[in-house]
Amino acid sequence: MTIDLRSDTVTKPTPAMKEAMFLAPVGDDVFGEDPTVNKLEEKCAALLGMDAAVYCPSGTMTNQIGINVLTHPYDEVICYKGAHIYKYEGGGLMGNSHVSVKLVAGDRGRISVNEIAANINNDDQHYPRTAVVALENTIVREAGSFYALKDIEKISGFARSKNLHMHLDGARLFNALVATGENAGDYGKYFDTISICLSKGLGAPVGSVLVCKKEFAKKARRMRKVFGGAWRQAGFLAAAGIYALDNHVNRLKEDHTRAKAIGKSLQQLSFVKSVMPVDTNIVIFELESSVSPAVFLEKIGEHQIKALAFSANEVRMVTHLDFDDAMLQKTITTLNQLRFL
Ligand SMILES: *Cc1c(COP(=O)(O)O)cnc(C)c1O
Repeated sequence: MTIDLRSDTVTKPTPAMKEAMFLAPVGDDVFGEDPTVNKLEEKCAALLGMDAAVYCPSGTMTNQIGINVLTHPYDEVICYKGAHIYKYEGGGLMGNSHVSVKLVAGDRGRISVNEIAANINNDDQHYPRTAVVALENTIVREAGSFYALKDIEKISGFARSKNLHMHLDGARLFNALVATGENAGDYGKYFDTISICLSKGLGAPVGSVLVCKKEFAKKARRMRKVFGGAWRQAGFLAAAGIYALDNHVNRLKEDHTRAKAIGKSLQQLSFVKSVMPVDTNIVIFELESSVSPAVFLEKIGEHQIKALAFSANEVRMVTHLDFDDAMLQKTITTLNQLRFL
């Protein structure tokens, strides 16, 4: 039995999800004729309290399209300095949308109205035009920290008073919702575009959805075509997404409980220097300088456990649908038995 904690993207479809996929009615989505894709898009828009949605192959694509439809070349986007849109999308904002970024520190990645206010450029020919505030929830670089909706409300109100658009990278929005107990339907009104991933904790094999205001949907579809993501009988995959939204949201709580248990046991270990607070399903910890991530990963690999080197001295573990209590026990037992010379 291999235990794979590298990411929550590693999950395989469950038998019931596979059955839903096989039975899905499909059609050509470029013609708007895939009933299952249409159903998924309508479901996501309704769920988040918005009026449109575009189903895409990846969360990178939905983020890139989201920023693209809200900006013009030479604009600037304000975001957290470790934001996925900036740090982990291959420089796409520059390449795809020709925009610059203004990076802010945030509190574990949660950016504040004050930080935004201090980073809006004056309307002066020297400066890029500040166009978008982009938030991430949960925040992957900060071990899945999350916003309270009331803080998002403040940020959105302020941004709009400055004529800025709002984008949300909600790759793990449902982890945040499960953690806060807040309502998905309250999110839409604070954003112009929201990206959600079905392929992370929700356990679908592929797919992300850009949920947006109607005025941006046509351009979003156009840009999906330009980026090569307009697909045909994608309903087989959309069916997995629908199944995931219907069946795999509440269980995210279990992932959070297991991640917290891993975090707690890591804290006791002599070769672990520090563990970031575990708020949802992501555990990030720093090793003592005598133990490199490569050596640590090799050791746990001998016990068929996989994790991810996250920086020169950090390791990441992410819990998910295919990680159960027996695997948790084995992981904790293994960690407790590790010895480094
Ligand atoms: C995974 C992830 C994405 C999108 O990733 P894809 O692998 O392209 O689907 C976007 N934002 C965050 C925060 C993520 O963790």
